[in-house]
Amino acid sequence: MPLEQLWAGWRHDYVTAATEQERAGDGGAADGGDCVFCRIAASGPPSVDNGIVFLGDLSFAVLNAYPYASGHLLVLPRRHVAEMDELTDDEATELWATTRQAVDALNAAYRPDGMNLGANLGRAAGAGIPRHLHLHVVPRWSGDTNFMTSVGGVRVMPETLATAWEKISAAWS
Ligand SMILES: [Zn+2]
Repeated sequence: MPLEQLWAGWRHDYVTAATEQERAGDGGAADGGDCVFCRIAASGPPSVDNGIVFLGDLSFAVLNAYPYASGHLLVLPRRHVAEMDELTDDEATELWATTRQAVDALNAAYRPDGMNLGANLGRAAGAGIPRHLHLHVVPRWSGDTNFMTSVGGVRVMPETLATAWEKISAAWS
């Protein structure tokens, strides 16, 4: 019997639209004009409503609206860039610092057995055109399904995104 994703309590438009746009392979216009990740970045300070757990000068971290596992975060540059080599040195430095903070916060909040960290770069890797660069940070537990299975499949989520936001925000240093 196939599992289904059982929770439906999260309704934030920005994050939901961002994930759906990503799934459709459409990251928005090249200038970011209709990019939902840009809209999230401009939606105000971190809150349970916009799903942002950290908003820096050049980067931010937001909950994935359709997580592969509890605590699944996306880490992004605030500026609309598609490729790694489009990042300035300062952006790349802060993006990595934010990614490290995300890993630390997820370790503190969830005590996972491991994590997946990665990005889809280019069409062949699953990226659409043109899109807003983002890194996935996904907590993993021994005995859960492998990463590709969890990406393609459906999961029973043990907590709501609102709960995840509270836990991660409290753990973020
Ligand atoms: Zn964008």
